[in-house]
Amino acid sequence: MPNMLADGVRWFDDWFALREVAPGIHAIGEPRFHQVNWNYLVLGEERALLFDTGPGVRDITPVVRALTGLSVTAMPSHMHFDHTGNLHRFTDIAVADVPVLRGFDRDGLLQEPGNLYLGHYEGMRWTPVRVSHWWPPGHVINLGGRKLEIIATPGHAPDHVALWDAAHDVLLAADFLYLGALYAQVPGSNLADYAGSCKALLPRLTAATRIFGAHGQADEEGRHDAPQLAKQDAEDLLNTLNVLKKSGDEPARAEINGRMHLLIGAHAYEAWHGAF
Ligand SMILES: [Zn+2]
Repeated sequence: MPNMLADGVRWFDDWFALREVAPGIHAIGEPRFHQVNWNYLVLGEERALLFDTGPGVRDITPVVRALTGLSVTAMPSHMHFDHTGNLHRFTDIAVADVPVLRGFDRDGLLQEPGNLYLGHYEGMRWTPVRVSHWWPPGHVINLGGRKLEIIATPGHAPDHVALWDAAHDVLLAADFLYLGALYAQVPGSNLADYAGSCKALLPRLTAATRIFGAHGQADEEGRHDAPQLAKQDAEDLLNTLNVLKKSGDEPARAEINGRMHLLIGAHAYEAWHGAF
């Protein structure tokens, strides 16, 4: 059988793949899942945080337990099923405190968040979870010796957030930016938001910043690695949006650069004109 993993990536079992992408930041990949999700476990000195939990096809908790003995908070970048599938397996759960999500919290349990979940695409069911922390954008998560700033990054989804580790110059961008097709054709996708989020992120980034996304793709040899991007990719995305806006065209697909393209639903253009 051909090796599915790039150099430096190792199997945890027959499903999960691991790579320490920066000191204390472990990428946990699921290359056999058709969406090729990559989740990120961030270790501090006192606590750990798992950013995204995968689709839940497999239980991710044994992987997390093998990587750290610290208490772990699980936090999804947004509520899509392929990021929240294992959320209910954790006892300490954080969710971005954005208005669009608050309405789904009933009697202390976060219920299926309407069309922000999309589990019906793949026959998956939401399990209600008790949220321990509602952290607003701008909140700085202190893991002890490591801080992560929550940055609102709507565009793909209205509830989407990224995590910024300024000290290590690492951005965990989840579904906002990754390799391949960026989805702006799902409910709540909004190109004006996408552009606004680029503008919010870019001042923080340098040419040395490493950006890690939540979906990977195999290289020409069929091998998988944690999807790594750079500031230039975020600039290319913003440039693509600006050119698109100027053109007045509303295509269903727009090329960004050789690594990414946007799939765009008609609804994503609605807030477009005059918005930026
Ligand atoms: Zn998503």
